Amino acid sequence: VKLYVPRETRLHEKRVALVPSVAAKLIKLGIEPSLQPGAGEAARIPDSAFVDAGAVVGGDASAQLIFSVQPPSLEQIQQMQPGTVLCCFVYAHREPEIVRALRDRNITCFAMELVPRTTRAQAMDALSSQAALAGYYAALLAASSLNRILPMMTTAVGSLRPAKILVMGAGVAGLQALATAKRLGAMVEGYDVRPEVKEQVESVGGKFVDTGVSAAGAGGYARELTAEEQAKVAEVLTRHIQNADAVITTASIPGRPSPKIISEEQIRGMKPGAVIIDLAAEGGGNTPLTQPGETVEVGPATIVAPLNVPSHLAEHASELYARNLLNLVGLMVKDGELTLDWEDDILAGAVLTHAGEIKNETARKAAE
Ligand code: NAD
Repeated sequence: VKLYVPRETRLHEKRVALVPSVAAKLIKLGIEPSLQPGAGEAARIPDSAFVDAGAVVGGDASAQLIFSVQPPSLEQIQQMQPGTVLCCFVYAHREPEIVRALRDRNITCFAMELVPRTTRAQAMDALSSQAALAGYYAALLAASSLNRILPMMTTAVGSLRPAKILVMGAGVAGLQALATAKRLGAMVEGYDVRPEVKEQVESVGGKFVDTGVSAAGAGGYARELTAEEQAKVAEVLTRHIQNADAVITTASIPGRPSPKIISEEQIRGMKPGAVIIDLAAEGGGNTPLTQPGETVEVGPATIVAPLNVPSHLAEHASELYARNLLNLVGLMVKDGELTLDWEDDILAGAVLTHAGEIKNETARKAAE
């Protein structure tokens, strides 16, 4: 099975879908990896490192298997052979034209964001691997954006108080942000609408913000809060937001714009010099004043809203992503051949286009 990894073409994308250590493992599976020259350059992985691992630098898009980070361009899709298996992030709701082109070119595309969030799929879960790195980076951004330090420090002229950091949205990214800020010496607190994350927040050294209101409803589903309950939640959160030196927000709802979880009023009431690191910028941000990709000052606070955060850690982000792809392809290769078993819930869940059809229902609605 021939694999090809093109150079990423989208602006500010520094990751690459293959690293030398993974190339060596793919070869053991019977896959022959090749890369476009310079594919690893932005991640500072030289062509020679891939050659040393047994990969070919050169090759072309006529391979049976293609890995990339971002979706291919329309021109790249036209260069692929019909029937090619492509694995990459797509985010179909933002890319209807690309999705139609993949369908019309008969590409079998597995979209990494569609890999199910099940226990068996954890090793292929690129959303989680990239979110973990983003969460770590958000804590560093908070530390470097503040005009004070995170840890308690005792000096000859007395001691400095540790910073307070509030993380809102304690999923994969939020928990790494909490753990990292804690290791840097901050006092950390976590909040999430899912009350079951309380123990996870505590396990990384954080305090869970208890609003005193549980959204747990019948059958384990969240229920709608009454107006009175909503007011109570807002009041508790306002207090924590306004006590924090830095707030890191990571709240997102799959396939939807980021929920606005901090209001302008709450921001204007923050401490002078406070910062918000908004990791939800890609989906529009967690505050109404977030400008994705920009840093803005609002009253006493600064909102930092970086885009494509994993790309800032391109070497490790590429490494984890390539391992996710290796594990995914492990489900497709039988006796050195590509065999797609549609009974496999991971492959069936992640497939976006196949045999001239858009297989994912949400993507089909967005593209047609
Ligand atoms: P995500 O990036 O979609 O969302 C981040 C967090 O924001 C979530 O914890 C969510 O509950 C929270 N959130 C949403 N709306 C909010 C609001 N209004 N206020 C505060 N917080 C809000 O999610 P994610 O980090 O990719 O995953 C979330 C969880 O899914 C994980 O923590 C984990 O429990 C589970 N998960 C399981 C597996 C697995 O079993 N293989 C894999 C990945 C994730």
